[in-house]
Amino acid sequence: MARIVMKFGGTSVADMDRIRNVARHVKREVDAGHEVAVVVSAMSGKTNELVAWTRDASPMHDAREYDAVVASGEQVTSGLLALALQNIGINARSWQGWQIPIKTDNAHGAARILEIDGSELIRRFGEGQVAVVAGFQGLGPDNRIATLGRGGSDTSAVAIAAAIKADRCDIYTDVDGVYTTDPRIEPKAKRLKKIAFEEMLEMASLGAKVLQVRSVELAMVFKVRTFVRSSFDDPDAPGMGDFLNPPGTLICDEEEILEQEVVTGIAYAKDEAQISLRRLADRPGVSAAIFGPLAEAHINVDMIVQNISEDGSKTDMTFTVPSTDVDKALQVLNGSKDKIGFDVIQNESGLVKVSVIGIGMRSHAGVAASAFRALAEKGINIKAITTSEIKISILIDGAYAELAVRTLHSVYGLDKS
Ligand code: ASP
Ligand code: MG
Repeated sequence: MARIVMKFGGTSVADMDRIRNVARHVKREVDAGHEVAVVVSAMSGKTNELVAWTRDASPMHDAREYDAVVASGEQVTSGLLALALQNIGINARSWQGWQIPIKTDNAHGAARILEIDGSELIRRFGEGQVAVVAGFQGLGPDNRIATLGRGGSDTSAVAIAAAIKADRCDIYTDVDGVYTTDPRIEPKAKRLKKIAFEEMLEMASLGAKVLQVRSVELAMVFKVRTFVRSSFDDPDAPGMGDFLNPPGTLICDEEEILEQEVVTGIAYAKDEAQISLRRLADRPGVSAAIFGPLAEAHINVDMIVQNISEDGSKTDMTFTVPSTDVDKALQVLNGSKDKIGFDVIQNESGLVKVSVIGIGMRSHAGVAASAFRALAEKGINIKAITTSEIKISILIDGAYAELAVRTLHSVYGLDKS
């Protein structure tokens, strides 16, 4: 017997037929003797609709009332799934965030989970009861419902798994695992059997949209073994209930991955823009003068490249921001022109950041050089490069995104089985 958290996203609970199908997945694990907590999202499209209603009601909406409205989508699915489970003979009960409680901070609309008291859920497991928990929501210190930011029910699931010390957290979604790259761009992309927490964190942060980034951070900190798998597979197909090797991708500690490849995956993020400040004074405090005001304006700066000055007095600084923030960034920078002291600003939108990710890079030389050579052979110009121990990110023109992803995917042999 084990303790399992099963999370189902919006497309998996999109209508009553799919909710009944989810109930069969849950029944399979209950029949195998496991203790089960289920976490559900709102039906697909529901949260968008609720968000639009709050905007319609008041464009400058009060975040507490926004949360009261948008959290309702998950309340509906948790009750419906509990009913569907009861209907097939399973003792199930729904739980809203405040009933457990899942305590969060006060950042309504983008709250962080602070603490979860799992004792009542665990006591009820002892009575043979399945918990169906509304994802995406908790209770703020002001005693009001707080939501966790879009995609937050992944984070609810991992946090609950950590709180009740679950053996596994299964994230059921509309894809059957994590792939070496986006299969819509490269049909030869392969499903990964396993991926390390750190790699998944990079993949999620750098553009892969399978999981909310925060959920991967939590899984890494609390070492929650997390499976990404499909809810559209037949719940009773052979192997579906295999405890050690269910179909899907396991996100786990790197120690669990014996045959580590040098490169695990290629991610990409569209709609990046580059801003360059030319002939800045090369003195202490320029970076602070540039990035301080951008941070205050909530502009998310990503890659930053500064050249070493040739003459000890002037230098250039280039960085990237999301395309949607360019105008705001230019306004902020021009507003601080006297403090920063630059000659001209240049900018370019429609760029793409392609990233090569793999823990194996730590101990292998030449990984970056192969990427640069391969892109050069295809005539793709590199605009900026940043690296960490386990990733290389390359900024290129948007028109070459797909070619670059496919080229890098094949250079590291990811399309071979
Ligand atoms: N329903 C919420 C959203 O659409 C939370 C989630 O699905 O994870 O963002
Ligand atoms: Mg989601």
